[in-house]
Amino acid sequence: MHVARTVSELHALTSKKKHIGFVPTMGALHDGHLSLIHIAQQKSDMVVASIFVNKTQFAAHEDLATYPRQEQTDLELLEANGTDIVYLPSDELMYPDGFSTSIDIGPIGSWLEGQPRPHFFGGVCLIVTKLLMQVMPTIAVFGEKDYQQLLIIQKLVRELNIPTSIIGGPILRDADGLAMSSRNQYLNKKQRAIAPSLFACLTNLSNTIDLSNYHQQLTQHQAKLIEAGFDSVDYLELRDADTLEPINDTTEHYRLLGAARLDNTRLIDNLMCLGN
Ligand code: AMP
Repeated sequence: MHVARTVSELHALTSKKKHIGFVPTMGALHDGHLSLIHIAQQKSDMVVASIFVNKTQFAAHEDLATYPRQEQTDLELLEANGTDIVYLPSDELMYPDGFSTSIDIGPIGSWLEGQPRPHFFGGVCLIVTKLLMQVMPTIAVFGEKDYQQLLIIQKLVRELNIPTSIIGGPILRDADGLAMSSRNQYLNKKQRAIAPSLFACLTNLSNTIDLSNYHQQLTQHQAKLIEAGFDSVDYLELRDADTLEPINDTTEHYRLLGAARLDNTRLIDNLMCLGN
């Protein structure tokens, strides 16, 4: 496995390959990230993973300073899982002094995850655009764990004609259903025991939802999350799985999405919904 820290180091390693598969991450890797590496391996000649904790997608009060960083362990995990190149750009390379470009993806960036974090998707779109232009992959794999992000990146590459196919990877979960996340390590024992209720709630809704009258069910399940021990629920929504708009008569696919807080830790999850 090779490590590249600059664009020219990266290009020296990738220039002879035709089909590059790319997995961008913020590090603190777990099996969910590694499952994306395995998907990229099946669809490319060479896999590049990046680790970069992107400051433009954190708000001032969020956990940028304390976000888990474990470069050596991450490198070992990537190597053991057959990654060819790890790209580790610096803050100075990505955001040199005077940097002022921004990307606005439009209304979809202000829904759901964008509500409490208005700058979040602008930051995500900016860093992903930069990474895609630097790595120039044929495919890039993003987790369905961040479902809104996946749809937004697909929209971004379509609208900017970036020649990369964006592939979604399924959510990897712990045995009790909790979606794996780098932030799960913030949870104490009591919170960790409460956390799987978010997935249980989505599963229960998916099995019982009445598409002609679901608002009350969503409200009831929000209350169940509080009963289970969550401190607050940011949203619990049923949306069009292709556009993330509220569902309407033309909706073909449905997605349940939720975000809830345990003290300062914010958990998100989502699930396909067949509907009744
Ligand atoms: P992050 O390091 O949190 O920015 O995540 C990097 C990539 O891994 C994103 O595309 C995430 O959606 C994806 N990811 C995070 N958690 C999981 C999971 N539990 N299962 C599958 N993919 C995941």
